[in-house]
Amino acid sequence: MLPFGAEQLRAIAAAHPTPFYLYDEQGIRGAARALQAAFAWAPGFRNFFALKATPNPHILTILAEEGSGADCSSLPELLIAARVGLHGEQMIFTSNNTPAAEFAAARQLGAVINLDDLGHLDYLARHVGLPELLSFRYNPGPLRTGNPIIGHPEAAKFGLTRDQLFTAYAAAQRAGVERFGLHTMVVSNELDSAALVATATLLFTLARELQAQLGITIELINLGGGIGIPYRPEEAPLDLVAFGAGVRAAYTALFRGMESRPPTLAMECGRLITGPHGYLLTHVRHLKHTYRHYAGLDATMADLMRPGMYGAYHQVSVLGKEHMVPSERYDLVGSLCENNDKFAIDRELPPLEPGDLLVIHDVGAHGRAMGFNYNGKLRSAELLLPQDGTTRLIRRAETIDDYFATIVW
Ligand SMILES: *Cc1c(COP(=O)(O)O)cnc(C)c1O
Repeated sequence: MLPFGAEQLRAIAAAHPTPFYLYDEQGIRGAARALQAAFAWAPGFRNFFALKATPNPHILTILAEEGSGADCSSLPELLIAARVGLHGEQMIFTSNNTPAAEFAAARQLGAVINLDDLGHLDYLARHVGLPELLSFRYNPGPLRTGNPIIGHPEAAKFGLTRDQLFTAYAAAQRAGVERFGLHTMVVSNELDSAALVATATLLFTLARELQAQLGITIELINLGGGIGIPYRPEEAPLDLVAFGAGVRAAYTALFRGMESRPPTLAMECGRLITGPHGYLLTHVRHLKHTYRHYAGLDATMADLMRPGMYGAYHQVSVLGKEHMVPSERYDLVGSLCENNDKFAIDRELPPLEPGDLLVIHDVGAHGRAMGFNYNGKLRSAELLLPQDGTTRLIRRAETIDDYFATIVW
């Protein structure tokens, strides 16, 4: 299950203090290629890696080599993408409640700007000026169901309603915008390809209606991110081949024989690409037995907040004890003064001892990125395992000086 041996992990953990994140370059490249292969039929298809999932330039460089662009949601993310050499329409700026300065930067870098609200059209025109290519984010409301991570579309803060979209494209056209994109993102961590195909079909149908009613050409359709990964052992990965084929069938049905050029497809997957290929390594520090059995780790919720925030499940391996019977039940906890500072609750594991090295799986996306400094906790380092068998530090751990750096004494 682990793409590296126990000896290798022990050696890395001897050289770098835990906790730290470890990314598997080969796995990341493989995931990027598999998604690209599922859309090999779609000319110009590109995944714009959602930088918020793993905002590390070294990871983005690897993905850029695989042909990915970047989906950025803030100025710092735009700057990371620009620093690794992505430019112009290799970047999509999908933000919400956006400040003018960030629109200005996106415009200056030539990124595709994807507007989250009808009101942002005027705002962009007034503060920055309108670009030649403009995209809008659709919120289908009651037409799709969403899920617990992202919320139900009707209650989600993102995107424009269907009626607003017609108004928005017409207004943009009047204001001189010449090229158009359409985007939606209504689910997160979805493992059912049929649900994602249904969303794509909805978007294609809407694009046709917009084109017919307004006489515009939607040249870019962005299906968003949200492809899930199997966090639980009983889950299976989404069938990318079936997904690609399902989207292809809908695309062909809706755009065959159209007079204008059929739209280029894009996605903004983060989790699918890096999620399964990142690991959090942490040692057991203390064991505590009260009303339950606790294993206190040297990592905390400040390193990985998904379990505490969403009740998310992450598999945990105990290095060297993989083949032992999971005869005990532990809550794996950090050292925050917060009772939801837990990586797993009532998890069946082999008997643990202080010093055991644990590997928390599937943390390559929305892991380190969501870290925080509550309780004076310092965020962990990131290491890359390149394909040549070496180990590379790609972000050092935070220090107390980093923590104090913003204080005005
Ligand atoms: C978070 C996000 C993504 C990436 O989501 P994944 O679940 O990592 O694929 C893509 N697009 C937008 C607009 C997002 O907010």
